[in-house]
Amino acid sequence: MKTFNFKEVAAQNADGDKAKIRWLINEANGAENFSMRLIEIAPGGSSAHHSHEWEHEVFVLEGKGYIKGEKSKETLGKGTVVLVPKNEVHQFKNDGTKPLKFLCMIPLKKPASGSYERGSLSKKE
Ligand SMILES: [Zn+2]
Repeated sequence: MKTFNFKEVAAQNADGDKAKIRWLINEANGAENFSMRLIEIAPGGSSAHHSHEWEHEVFVLEGKGYIKGEKSKETLGKGTVVLVPKNEVHQFKNDGTKPLKFLCMIPLKKPASGSYERGSLSKKE
């Protein structure tokens, strides 16, 4: 078992505008199947407009914003849960006045046809 404070993981620039990502759990600390990332988007910022072959499982911790999908635009706030299905184009946007912070889980298993680097909020090697 491992426990640590999220602040021990450095925030890296993520694709998009004013977006940061902390890879809290991934292969580097022993996970085999899932990755937990903490995303922070500053006011006015956004994630990249993108899609990929894996889903996102999101839990909003704080802040306000929205996620724009292919057919809808949904409001985000503290406690909002989001499932972004694979291959759906999406973009997170902070239209509030404070940082938008959310956890975003993805599988670590890479699709045979590509890697996570193609997506946004990508993992910096
Ligand atoms: Zn995505």
